[in-house]
Amino acid sequence: MTYLDHNATTPLHPAAREAWLEAAEHLWHNPSGLYAAATRARSLLDRCRERLADLLGVTDPGRIVFTSGATAACNLLARELGRTAPANAVAIISPIEHPAVHESFLAAFPGAVVEADCDSDGVVGSAAIDAALAGVAGRPVACVSVMAAGNESGVLQPWPDIAWLCRDRGIPFHTDASQWIGKLPATSLGVCPWVTGSGHKFGGPRGVGFLVVPADCPLRGDRGGPQEGGRHAGTENLPAIAGLVAALQARESGLADVAGRGATLRDEMIVALRDALPAAVVVSAGAERLWNTLAVLVPGADSRKLVAALDRAGIAASTGSACSAGAASAARIVAAIGSRFGGPCAARAGLVRLSAGPETTSAEWREAARVLADAAAARPPRITLG
Ligand code: PLP
Repeated sequence: MTYLDHNATTPLHPAAREAWLEAAEHLWHNPSGLYAAATRARSLLDRCRERLADLLGVTDPGRIVFTSGATAACNLLARELGRTAPANAVAIISPIEHPAVHESFLAAFPGAVVEADCDSDGVVGSAAIDAALAGVAGRPVACVSVMAAGNESGVLQPWPDIAWLCRDRGIPFHTDASQWIGKLPATSLGVCPWVTGSGHKFGGPRGVGFLVVPADCPLRGDRGGPQEGGRHAGTENLPAIAGLVAALQARESGLADVAGRGATLRDEMIVALRDALPAAVVVSAGAERLWNTLAVLVPGADSRKLVAALDRAGIAASTGSACSAGAASAARIVAAIGSRFGGPCAARAGLVRLSAGPETTSAEWREAARVLADAAAARPPRITLG
């Protein structure tokens, strides 16, 4: 099978598997225990926190809180901001946030979430954040949240600029870096006061992620235990944490080469696709994007049928439909930039997302282009009555 759905989840990296097995077999004791074996588990947990801090450019490892994934981390963050903000505070988010952010903020700031504008590629620049701040002038801003890289089109956001802008204004800034980490260098993320990430997006195990909090943040996590400095109750999943850190460490080495090669292959795929299917529209084509991600809109096509055709050809990809009920979250990027296609639902286009991994080959990308073009050209069989 050709796996082109790495933005959904990734196969376990061999380094993560090894670290997971080592911790599960030899360091399975509860890190909170007071006996020697537990102390060894605690010491691995401390080393994992230090190593992750290093990889993220976070100088104080105490800023890292391990969680059960990015969704859990975003909920923790939004609840904390909601709990500590003044009653009339607002939160500003980008219009293309993953539901992990979007829905957590809606719950924590009912009626007080403002979506900043984006350009026709889905980029939310500092000017858009400035404008959103001007629009809520007079009200306290609890947080600005802009994802580092989009899960749908892979669009990269100018998060360092926004982080500095927010710092200058004394406003907390959060970036959901779930799709950035492991694909692009993570070392500058530590400049952001709040960061969320997820292990299974970069070759780590599922069900483990983290929240970076501002130094000395008195985060009040779930009740029920003193773990993670009282910020996230529940016995730590040490094997998964060790796997997450090992995967990121492995991914970070040679990342520039992987990203360069990946972008070349993706761009060749776009040329092949445009030759075979001139009507195809690459989402966020005018912006910097993740080297592994290609979201394509095919006018008049049905997303599910395109993905089913790819599946029949042995290619795993994913879909999102701007117009079908219940699928809006899968196509927030299309909804946000819909005017470019004649209105959010006017084009009735099928959306297919292909997301490669470091090992994806040119032949695999080209085959996906061929199958997509054939599927888009196929017409339903004619039905004759009588
Ligand atoms: N944020 C983004 C941008 C994602 O792509 C995802 C996963 O799809 C998440 C958050 C949620 O991650 P997790 O599966 O670890 O909860």
